Amino acid sequence: MEDRIRRLTAEDEAYLRDESHTVGAAEYIAFPRTEEEVRGVLRRAYEAGLPVTLQGGRTGISAGCVPHGGLVVSLTRMNRAEGMRRLEDGRYSVLVQPGVVLSELGKWVESKRLDTRGWDGESLAAYAEFCRGGEFFFSPDPTERSACVGGMAACNASGALSYRYGPVRDHVLALRAVLMDGRTVALRRGERFARGLVFELPCEDGSLLRGRLPGYAMPSTKNTSGYYCREDMDLLDLFIGSDGTLVALTQLELALLPSPAFQWCVNCYFPAEGQAIGFVKTVRDAAEKAAAIEYFDGDALDILRRQRAENPAFASLPPVPDGAAAAVCVELHDDERSRIQARLFRLGEQLRAAGGREEDTQVARTAADVAALKFFRHAVPESVNMLIAQRKKQDPVITKLGTDMAVPDGKLDEVVELYRRGLAEYGLESAVWGHAGNNHLHVNILPRNGEDYRRGKQLYARWARAVTEMGGAVSSEHAVGKSKADFLEIMYGPAHIAEMRALKRVFDPRGLLGRDNLFAFEKEGE
Ligand SMILES: Cc1cc2nc3c(=O)[nH]c(=O)nc-3n(C[C@H](O)[C@H](O)[C@H](O)COP(=O)(O)OP(=O)(O)OC[C@H]3O[C@@H](n4cnc5c(N)ncnc54)[C@H](O)[C@@H]3O)c2cc1C
Repeated sequence: MEDRIRRLTAEDEAYLRDESHTVGAAEYIAFPRTEEEVRGVLRRAYEAGLPVTLQGGRTGISAGCVPHGGLVVSLTRMNRAEGMRRLEDGRYSVLVQPGVVLSELGKWVESKRLDTRGWDGESLAAYAEFCRGGEFFFSPDPTERSACVGGMAACNASGALSYRYGPVRDHVLALRAVLMDGRTVALRRGERFARGLVFELPCEDGSLLRGRLPGYAMPSTKNTSGYYCREDMDLLDLFIGSDGTLVALTQLELALLPSPAFQWCVNCYFPAEGQAIGFVKTVRDAAEKAAAIEYFDGDALDILRRQRAENPAFASLPPVPDGAAAAVCVELHDDERSRIQARLFRLGEQLRAAGGREEDTQVARTAADVAALKFFRHAVPESVNMLIAQRKKQDPVITKLGTDMAVPDGKLDEVVELYRRGLAEYGLESAVWGHAGNNHLHVNILPRNGEDYRRGKQLYARWARAVTEMGGAVSSEHAVGKSKADFLEIMYGPAHIAEMRALKRVFDPRGLLGRDNLFAFEKEGE
């Protein structure tokens, strides 16, 4: 095997950070191109006792891929589609390497142009049928489309459309993975389950991994806080959301969904936050499920107003109406024009009843207009990340400080009130947006200096306690990484964290993989 490990140099500096703006350190870096090379690289690191940090697109905002010493393994060169299957229900799936970028996958599926070199006969036959048939799409859309599918699976990423179609977990049908010592496992959904909380998992070399799952009850909300564990679970689910700490994912089989004939987006504006949240609840409770319900507060709208006026890269943003103090973007998917029109009409009624500004409503019915409203959604986190990068130059202690917590349906008003009270009490700048349909708002604290940052972290910890008491999750789509490890302990307590550590040791007895993700590395674990 060609040796893919080399010294990390100043030119590789970008591989020490992600979009959280946290900066790490590492001595070596590797860019394997095949599963065989991943096995070789991990086995060498294992033998040398070198910590390993796995990386995809480095778009994470929890510092999960930020190295704490040792070797960075970037999977970005494993970026091929390796096959396709036709499923029994008429849908299709694609087999992809972990470094496939989400935007590329989207283009391949939309244009039906996949590089089929090296595919087996079954895949080629499925592809031929796929090309003759209707339109399909991969629904998880974590806003930042330069994410890689391996990173998305490791985080159990979501995004706006997960409101209707679920997180990445719901779309992974099978996977292949490599352990730190170079052994491999292959799992297909529905084939291998835990018995109660006990599991046995065969590796491809015939050896057996035996362990016990932590006994915590996961919240019923959208959730990616720590390992996914429940009695009798499908063992494939253990690896989705495992945050780079158990295995390196080397292949994923991802389900594609039939594309709806009509995809419309509606930006609804409100004079006050309370009205917008009331509207969210009405739309959420409607009989027909929207594809997405996204929220933006007045501060987020102000950021967009400024960007549109001052930054040429944002000039094509739809205008934000004067006087709008909150917005809700609703995405509708349907196969029948008359049904989606009726749904749009009802949305208008719901908007008026909630006190919305009908005259300001922006309706996108064409692909270009829908893309413009999606740009609106992406521009908010993108602009905030740029602002944090700027402020970090003034005070290097500053990193992104955005919440990722979801609460049960009945707690949306309470959590909004909690956030507003805290921000006012601490006198912090902020912007709030996110997946309101799932009661999952990202409160982004915008520290002006190190003192704001320190106080912001205190406030975040207070919120983590309150959200846990409400039955919520401290991380719902970004994963815990390094930056939310303290909140995971708040959510599950030290005894369950100890169970997670024990579970990790089954796969990684020397504690080398994804060090300090989920919980701090402890030497005695070695
Ligand atoms: C502007 C912006 C908006 C965003 N909005 C959303 C959103 O709406 N919803 C959402 O869910 N996320 C969102 N994100 C976060 C981010 O895009 C996701 O977390 C994404 O899933 C990370 O993918 P990645 O390839 O960049 O992973 P990385 O950041 O490279 O890594 C993330 C984690 O996965 C692990 N990992 C990476 N590859 C592998 C592998 N092959 N095997 C095992 N572990 C691996 C890493 O070790 C790390 O722990 C946003 C990010 C940005 C910058």
